[in-house]
Amino acid sequence: MKERVVPAAASIAIMTLALYSAACGDGETTTPTPTAPAPASPTLVASPTAAPTPTALPTVAASPTAAAQASPTPCPQYPLTPAVGALAANLNQAIARWNQWIGCAVFALDPTGTQPGVIAVDFAPAEIQDNGWAQFSGGTVYLAPPTSLPPNSAQPYANDFDMLTCVVMHGLGHILGYQDDATGAPLIMRPLSWAWWPPSSCSTPDSP
Ligand SMILES: [Zn+2]
Repeated sequence: MKERVVPAAASIAIMTLALYSAACGDGETTTPTPTAPAPASPTLVASPTAAPTPTALPTVAASPTAAAQASPTPCPQYPLTPAVGALAANLNQAIARWNQWIGCAVFALDPTGTQPGVIAVDFAPAEIQDNGWAQFSGGTVYLAPPTSLPPNSAQPYANDFDMLTCVVMHGLGHILGYQDDATGAPLIMRPLSWAWWPPSSCSTPDSP
């Protein structure tokens, strides 16, 4: 009798194990899935290969143009209005060159002069004469024609479109806070050290 009981209990135990093993078998079916991350390792190995790319970026940032474009994140905005209608053409040129050089729309033309804080651009009164050639005071940019003809042109300065544009650019530089001959200022701000000022052309504020 005892011999029959034992096998019966053993068979129950075997069936129970079979059930557990079946349950565990279902659980283990999902186990192989985490094995998948193993192939990800070669991907990580490839990452250090791409690391030299960021190293090359500071070399690109060394360009003065790129640095100028990156620094002024909040772009200040100065609306300009020509006190003399004909100056609008010079202003358009000067505005475009400054905005491109800085990398944002720091200047904008306001032909009607109605925007808040608009800055007038005008020819200087006689008392200013040719001191500084272009000044920014009292919310107005004053363009001062010289009392003598420029050394490299037979035309009166005020009638030379390109030269006048350069002087306008100089005046706009004063709005930005550049002082005459200041260290680090673009070349358009160096009239005192230039024998040939104003330049006959200035495609950018820092053109030689
Ligand atoms: Zn000046």
